[in-house]
Amino acid sequence: MAGKHLIVSGLVFKEGYTPSNEVIAFRENKTELAYYSRVTEVVIDNFSNPDKFESDYWVGLFGKHNRFDHSMLVGKRNKGVTMAVRLNTEASRENHHRIDHNYFGPRPMLGSNGGETLRIGTSHYSLSDSLTVVENNYFDRCDGEVEIISVKSGANKILNNTFFESRGTLTLRHGNGNLVEGNVFKGNGVDHTGGIRIINRDQIVKNNYLEGLTGYRFGSGFTVMNGVPNSTINRYHQVVNAKVENNTFINVEHIHLAAGSDAERTAVPKNSYFKNNLFYNENNKAPFSLFDDISGIAFAGNVSNLLKDNKIKSGISAQNFSLTKASNGLLYPNENSVNVGVSAKLKPTIKADTGPIWYAKKEPIVSFNSGKTIQVSAGENALFDAVEKASEGDVLVLTDGNYVENKIITLNKTLTIKAANAHKAKITFGRSTLFAIVDHGSLSLEGVVISGSESPDSTGNTLIRTAKWGMLVNYRFSMLNSIIEDLDINHSFHFFDSGSRAFADYISIKGNTFKNITGDLFRMDKEQDDLGIYNTEYLTVENNTFDSIGGAIVKLYRGGKDESTFGPHLSFVNNKVLNASKDKRNKTLASLYLHGAQVVSISGNEFNDSAPIVIEHTVGEPITVVKNNSLTKTSLPSVKELHAKGPHTAVLLNNKQY
Ligand code: CA
Repeated sequence: MAGKHLIVSGLVFKEGYTPSNEVIAFRENKTELAYYSRVTEVVIDNFSNPDKFESDYWVGLFGKHNRFDHSMLVGKRNKGVTMAVRLNTEASRENHHRIDHNYFGPRPMLGSNGGETLRIGTSHYSLSDSLTVVENNYFDRCDGEVEIISVKSGANKILNNTFFESRGTLTLRHGNGNLVEGNVFKGNGVDHTGGIRIINRDQIVKNNYLEGLTGYRFGSGFTVMNGVPNSTINRYHQVVNAKVENNTFINVEHIHLAAGSDAERTAVPKNSYFKNNLFYNENNKAPFSLFDDISGIAFAGNVSNLLKDNKIKSGISAQNFSLTKASNGLLYPNENSVNVGVSAKLKPTIKADTGPIWYAKKEPIVSFNSGKTIQVSAGENALFDAVEKASEGDVLVLTDGNYVENKIITLNKTLTIKAANAHKAKITFGRSTLFAIVDHGSLSLEGVVISGSESPDSTGNTLIRTAKWGMLVNYRFSMLNSIIEDLDINHSFHFFDSGSRAFADYISIKGNTFKNITGDLFRMDKEQDDLGIYNTEYLTVENNTFDSIGGAIVKLYRGGKDESTFGPHLSFVNNKVLNASKDKRNKTLASLYLHGAQVVSISGNEFNDSAPIVIEHTVGEPITVVKNNSLTKTSLPSVKELHAKGPHTAVLLNNKQY
C-alpha cells in the first residue's frame, strides 16, 4: 500500500505464501510509500514459504506515521523477520510508527539465524532515530531465535508489552536513546527464556517486570554488554548512560554485566546506574555474573532478598521479605518498607486484549496422547492401515502379535504407537524404511519390538527417516521402553536419519535396547554447508542399552560461525554402550560425534569396547560436560577447539578408564 490516510482492515492470509519480499508492505516500490496509514485487524496465519530457507518478511513498515494494530501474526516457519520496520531511505526515518495491541503468536524454533519476531532498523542506519512506538502487544512463545525484538535504531519506545514463555530477549542491539518501560516478561522456567539486553548509549529501562527467566549469557534475564572501542557500525557500541530503575526481577537466574568481555569487546559500561530495582530469587542464589570492571555501573537504593554470594557489594540492601500476588497478577513484597521495583499500577497486557477478537488463538502443536485410543490387531499392514485412519493425537494400541508392514508408513500427523503389553507386539518391515516423518508428522513409540529381519537385502535401509529434503514444520520423536534389533541384513542399516532442512523440536529416547545394528543410530548431521543450521534442538538419550552397533550412536552437526541459536543440545546419560561404532564405514571413528553442539551433558554412561566420544567446539561459548563415565577398552574423549585459541573449554571430570 502506498499513499496517505489509507486503512486496511479484516484480511486473513492463510494457506499460501508471498511470492515477493513481504506479505504486507507499507510501500508500493522504493519511492512510493505509505503515510498516516493503518493496517488493523489483519491475520497472517502460517503463511510461510514452503522452502524454509527462502527468506521473506510478513510485514514491512516503510514511510512515516503508520500504524499496525490489533492484528495477529502466528506460525512463521520460514527464514526472515516476522515484522520489520525499515529505515532504508530518508523518507522512512523518524517515522513515528505505532505498533500496538497485536498478538505475535507462537513462532517455532527456526534452527538458524533469521528468526526474529520484530526488528526496528538495521545496523546500517542505526544512528538514525526511528521514533517507533511498540506498545501493548503480546509475544506468545516467540521462539524463532535468540532475539525476539531486535532494536537497531534510536529513540524507540517499547512499552507495556507482554513476553510469555518466549525464548530469547528484547535486544537493544544498535541505536541510542531507546525507552523500555512497563513490559512484563514471564518465562515460567522454560529453557532459554530471557529478558532485556542493553548495548549503546542513553538507554532507559524502567518499571519492567521479569519473572521465571532461565536464560544465560547473551540470552540472560538481563544483560549489559561490553562494547568495542571505536566500534564499527555493525559491532558493539559501548554502553554509556544506561538508566535501569524500578524494575522487578523475580527468579531471574542470570543477570550478566560487562557481558561479552574479550580481546575485542574491552569497552566497559560507563556512567550507568541500577536504581530502586527489586531482586528476589527463591533459591537464594544471587543472579549476578561480572565479566569485567563494572565500576561504571552505580548501584543505589536496590533491594534483594537474602542472597548468597552476591558479587554486587553495595547499593543492594538484602532484606528478609516474602511476596504476594496482586490483582494485576504480579508479585510484590509483603513488607511495606520494601517499596522498590515495579509500580503497583502496572497493568500487564493480556492475550485477550490483543489481535482481532474474531480470530481464535489456537495452540500451535498437537500434544501426544491428546486424541482417541484405538486398538489394533496384528496382521499384514495392520499398522499402515491403522495410521491411515487415525486422527491427530490418537494412540494406537497394538495387541500382542506380529505386525508385518510392506508399505512405508508416512506420518503427517501426531501419533502414539504403543504395545498393549510391553515387548509383545513385534513389527517387521519389507521396505527400505518403516516410518517416514513428513510435515505435520510427529511420532511416539512405546514398548514395541522392531526387527530388521525381513527388510530388503540392500545397503542403507533406515528404520525411521524424515522427508529426505526440505521440511517446513518442526517435528517431535519420542521412544520409550522399546527394543530395536537385527538391523543387520546388510551394511549401513540405520535407525534414525534426518533429511537436510528437517528440524526436530526434540528427540527423546529413554529406556530402550538397541542391538545388532550395522549402521548409525541418530544421523543429525545433514547441514554440512556450514550456515549455522542443524537438525534437532534437543537430543535426549537416557537409560538405554546399545549392543553391537556398527556405526555411530550420535552424529550431531552444527556448522558455521553464527551465534544466533541456542542449540543443538545433547543429553546422553546413564546409557550402556557395548561393542559400538567400530565398523570401518564409520568415518567419524566415534561413538558420539559432536560438531558445534552448544549444550552437552554426557554422564553416568558405561562404554565397553567402543569407539570414543569426539567433540569439536566451533563458536559461541559451548557448555560441554563429560563426567562420571566408565570407559572399558575405550579411548578417552577427544575435545578440540576449531576456532578459539588456547585449551578447550569442556569439563571432563571423573571419567574412569579400565
Ligand atoms: Ca539474529
